[in-house]
Amino acid sequence: MSQAVMSVRAVAAAVVALVALIGAPATPATAATEGFRDVTGRHQFYREISWLTERGITTGYADNSFRPSGEVSREAFAAFLYRLAGRPGVSVPSRSPFKDVSTNAQFYREIVWLEKQHITTGWADGTFRPKDAISRSAMAAFLYRYKGSPSYTPPSTSRFTDTRTSSTFYTEVSWLASTGMTTGYADGTFRPYDGTSRAATAAFLFRGFGNASYHAPTYAPPTTWHTDRDYTRIINDPESVLVVVNKRRALDPLRYAPADLVTLSGISGGSTRYMRREAATAMSRMHAAVRAKGMTFSIVSAYRSHDYQRALFARYARQHGVASAETFSARAGHSEHQTGWTADLGAGTCSLGGCFGSSTVGRWVAAHSHEYGFIIRYPQGAQAITGYIYEPWHVRYVGVELATYMHDHDIDTLEEQFGLPAAPDYR
Ligand SMILES: [Zn+2]
Repeated sequence: MSQAVMSVRAVAAAVVALVALIGAPATPATAATEGFRDVTGRHQFYREISWLTERGITTGYADNSFRPSGEVSREAFAAFLYRLAGRPGVSVPSRSPFKDVSTNAQFYREIVWLEKQHITTGWADGTFRPKDAISRSAMAAFLYRYKGSPSYTPPSTSRFTDTRTSSTFYTEVSWLASTGMTTGYADGTFRPYDGTSRAATAAFLFRGFGNASYHAPTYAPPTTWHTDRDYTRIINDPESVLVVVNKRRALDPLRYAPADLVTLSGISGGSTRYMRREAATAMSRMHAAVRAKGMTFSIVSAYRSHDYQRALFARYARQHGVASAETFSARAGHSEHQTGWTADLGAGTCSLGGCFGSSTVGRWVAAHSHEYGFIIRYPQGAQAITGYIYEPWHVRYVGVELATYMHDHDIDTLEEQFGLPAAPDYR
């Protein structure tokens, strides 16, 4: 086990211990320590969404997603405010105040509370329209009333180009801006009738009710593989050792570059080539094992940046034609080499050829590389799945746990391992 793995586990254990200390978690422990499957540490509102989760204002969805770009419905916002208020006791009437909210609706209690607090009056026709997206101006009004309708005199000139002083919620929208909860858009508009995304709502609420000194938990995706985990988010995360990149799965962001690249010094050709630290350590160990058997391999290629990959693919396309180049080289943003988890190995004069697979060292690599956390990413006969010809020289680091599992269960490709569609082409 690497130092990095140990430290991530230590952090996770500490968070679990902390949660145990402060009482039952309002959310699954995985949401606090590993985040939502669709919100990585790079999300613009990662901190705000973490706060919203820790406060128990949102629990996300049952599939451990947060759906940051999803619009907030009126009933969901009722639930957010109710939880923000600390889930006060509500005597729930047997007759609904709204004709379109049944007494057994999922958020009946929350909507009743909202109505009793005079935060909403619903629509003139007696409906609440719970499933409608809440508009930005309605959200402003709800928040203004939630704060107890503070006395506030709006400016005589609107600060937003699309909100008149005569607009229905002019006071509420101006108040919201005065609190700093919203700044509107860069073009000077507020867009009062637009819906609000869940991520933006997290930001509103954090600015209005959060603590400026709040520190979000360190984003810590699992670094190892276990049979019982959900990997949907992890395999999309370029930082993860389990990221899956192919012709139908681009890196996100497309110009991703790892931050912990180190040289593969000590291996022929390695002093000017780079992998991520954990993979480089594993590569050194594998090389030492090979040397102990009286063999060796060289590093032909390892990390390649987005720009380098683009130039490389263009060169191959000129030399061999695009169709042929597609079978052995990736477009920029689609190359495993851009992740820093991959290297191409050479054996003597054999470089990037089938000869590597039949060489003594190549046969050893095929049989033993899993013990060091590597897989042969493009195996023989899998071009319809991986999109690439047999490349016995191209090894991908995935960690010992997964490499060994795939070896022991005869799973040849990451696509099959994670139940992903075949990626023969870019579509
Ligand atoms: Zn390669």
